[in-house]
Amino acid sequence: MVSPAREKSHGSAPGKRTADSPSILLTNIRQLISLRGPVSPRRGRELSELGIIEDAAVLCVGGKIVSVGSRREAQRDAWIQRNRHRIRTVDCRGGVVLPGFVDSHTHPVFTEARLVDFEKRISGASYEGIAEAGGGIRSSLNGVRESSRKELSDHVLSALRRMSASGTTTVEAKSGYGLSMESEIKSLEAIRDAARQWPGTVVPTLLGAHVIPPEFRDRREDYVALICEKMIPEAARRKLAEYVDVFCERGAFAVQETQGILASAKHHGLATRVHICQLSEARLGDLAQFQPHSYDHMDFVTEVDLADLAKMNAVATLLPAANYFLGLQKYPPARNLIDAGVAVALATDYNPGSSPTTNMPFVLSIACTHMKMSPAEVITATTCNGACALRLQNRKGSIEPGKDADLAVFAVRDYREIAYWVAADLCSGTIAGGQLFSAASSTSIQFE
Ligand SMILES: [Zn+2]
Repeated sequence: MVSPAREKSHGSAPGKRTADSPSILLTNIRQLISLRGPVSPRRGRELSELGIIEDAAVLCVGGKIVSVGSRREAQRDAWIQRNRHRIRTVDCRGGVVLPGFVDSHTHPVFTEARLVDFEKRISGASYEGIAEAGGGIRSSLNGVRESSRKELSDHVLSALRRMSASGTTTVEAKSGYGLSMESEIKSLEAIRDAARQWPGTVVPTLLGAHVIPPEFRDRREDYVALICEKMIPEAARRKLAEYVDVFCERGAFAVQETQGILASAKHHGLATRVHICQLSEARLGDLAQFQPHSYDHMDFVTEVDLADLAKMNAVATLLPAANYFLGLQKYPPARNLIDAGVAVALATDYNPGSSPTTNMPFVLSIACTHMKMSPAEVITATTCNGACALRLQNRKGSIEPGKDADLAVFAVRDYREIAYWVAADLCSGTIAGGQLFSAASSTSIQFE
């Protein structure tokens, strides 16, 4: 253990809402998954290097991790002994501690479940067929347009709480079910309101370019202009979004439209990310000039793009819970991507149409069983590489001195169990910004 006094170079920048964060010593950790190492997206064999410390302890002060080591070192540490009266000890009961999950792709601003679509699809209708019949994304429009900002933020906050109950501490949250100037801005405000009430970190994204709303069906260029000339400048001016995302796909936005929207984002100082290759092939090179931080879905990525992508800092974010929920046979080609050297992340894609889950451990499980990623690879893809997909790798994604005190505690003896016990609530505690705030299971950890 290295005491805070000797770690002056780290942890000086306060994390979010950490002023009141107590000093916390997590101890009795059977496996600590540190993911220590280079602050860059992990590729190939690096995805399996978890940096496991057995019988470990972690000290967090002021919302930051200040030291990581064995329990024996913590017991002997002079700083800890001197300050014991103001350190709260958390007994992790022989469980596993890993960096809080980074869910780098979610759509939480909606109000209603899509139960009719669900039944139609069970009866054989396709995702695109349902969308053409007026279901899909467009069916969530009215709920968002007619709801108040407060109602929307309540929905977002309840989703964030469910996420943290299963170990997630950082969430990328998109607008995209308002599809009007007023409703998209209202959606981003709702994300900001909810984020202020949640101890974790929320990264807001403007997804005005989700689909063309019905009133613009015959004048789509006017809607693209509305996004570029009104929504993006307003979101940037009011700092309501860090990213602009586009659903670049047949039935949504064409490559040329996507280029215009991403160019506007860059012009207004916002970073970019894209939904691409979910339903059909597309060339990533057409968008590379806008330097998306993440290419998301990638089910139909072409072989020729793999080598180029492997050379980029961009992350391929795979969203297999959508494939699961849509009942698809085909899943994103994780092995091809990893073997080509592409940095791969995994996220929930939480949304009412294709992925109504907030549960990252479930995503880990699907990625193992349907995409043949190993239990170690899926941990890295949902922590370190998720952080890289949001360019937060200097603060998130590993348990190392100087990083934010964002941790998930699981009531298992081996990290592989997190993916193994399907749809089980085994998260026994979540710490974000140094605050212990959430537990899903009946085996919750306790402060001593
Ligand atoms: Zn999505």
